[in-house]
Amino acid sequence: MAVREDILQGVKRVVVKIGSSVISNRDKGRSPLECGLSRDWVRHYARKIKTIRDRGIDVVLVSSGAIMAGRERLEFARADLTVPEKQACAAIGQSFLMHTYEKAFEKKELKVAQILLSHDDLGNRKRYLNAKHTIETLLEKGVIPIINENDSVTVEEIKIGDNDSLSATVACLVDAQLLIILSDVEGLYDRDPSVKVKAGVEKAQLLSHISKVNEDIEKIAGKSNNHLTVGGMVTKVRAAKKTMSFGIPTLVVNGLDEKVIENIFAGKEVGTLFWSGKGKIRDRKHWIAHTLKSAGTLTLDTGARKALLERGKSLLPAGLLKVTGSFEFGNAVTLLDELGKEIGRGLVNYNSRDLENIKGLKTSAVRSLMGKSFYEEVVHRDDLVIF
Ligand code: GLU
Repeated sequence: MAVREDILQGVKRVVVKIGSSVISNRDKGRSPLECGLSRDWVRHYARKIKTIRDRGIDVVLVSSGAIMAGRERLEFARADLTVPEKQACAAIGQSFLMHTYEKAFEKKELKVAQILLSHDDLGNRKRYLNAKHTIETLLEKGVIPIINENDSVTVEEIKIGDNDSLSATVACLVDAQLLIILSDVEGLYDRDPSVKVKAGVEKAQLLSHISKVNEDIEKIAGKSNNHLTVGGMVTKVRAAKKTMSFGIPTLVVNGLDEKVIENIFAGKEVGTLFWSGKGKIRDRKHWIAHTLKSAGTLTLDTGARKALLERGKSLLPAGLLKVTGSFEFGNAVTLLDELGKEIGRGLVNYNSRDLENIKGLKTSAVRSLMGKSFYEEVVHRDDLVIF
């Protein structure tokens, strides 16, 4: 099966990153970042995101544009703003950006929520998990989370840096199966496409599939002269490298092409796809499901079955009804529902003897019983394959 079709078939959750230049007005002779927020483009993407949602796919948006929108409202015409000026722009622009998204999505009967993050939030495990839980809850409620960097309070040291990098982190945070970066260029070219073709020099070619981000690719990206976006191609390539190592493909496309979302979901060869075809996680899951021999079975109660199947959760001791077989920590086991039907496979964090003692117990009870050998999950979702 074609790579793109294969990816699309497995997509249940997607992160869409919208660059500032995609949702700005365009005015010849001026940088899009100086032209202000375009309500039409925001509306356009609200409609497109609704079509993705209608396919039963969760969508998390990472949107830039606060500084660009604020610039217009504060009437800052010059290009070289100071940091406090940019932060002031972000403060006024962010609320205007959200207001515009809110109105656009309202027309499509969708609610939106704002989440502003800084590196401090994502570097701290507790806050990272808090952000994750908030986003999960919003998605469960059918809300579209719209994420941006908390520009007005972050200084260089605690900045995530750019929204390409933020979108990659978010894709990993929410376990998305695809990151789409909407940019103002077609994708990654083998050489700078803005350089005029001279005699004897070949025209720049769009690279449609990159299976590994190596030094050569980073060099090509470094040379691509896209001065309009914060990071240009380099940050996009780095973002793709990150998601790929988590088993998530990244697609960099031209968001100014009005049909790009349809084309992506029709499996057309638009933009540059960054994907090795064998993500770490996928590989490992394949191995758990198909290579390892099952050493026993765990029977789950209804709540646990639903948590695993419908909410992508881990298996906790409380949801365990029955244990059979003799196995050790790290072995593969088969997961059964109450009727004995096989629902998946996973690697266990406890041996069969300990599981006999803790099955059905709440986390707090397991913690005091197991002491140092305590694990919250019997099978963590990263070690779990659902059939
Ligand atoms: N957070 C910035 C903004 O909303 C944009 C940063 C970026 O696009 O990388 O204006």
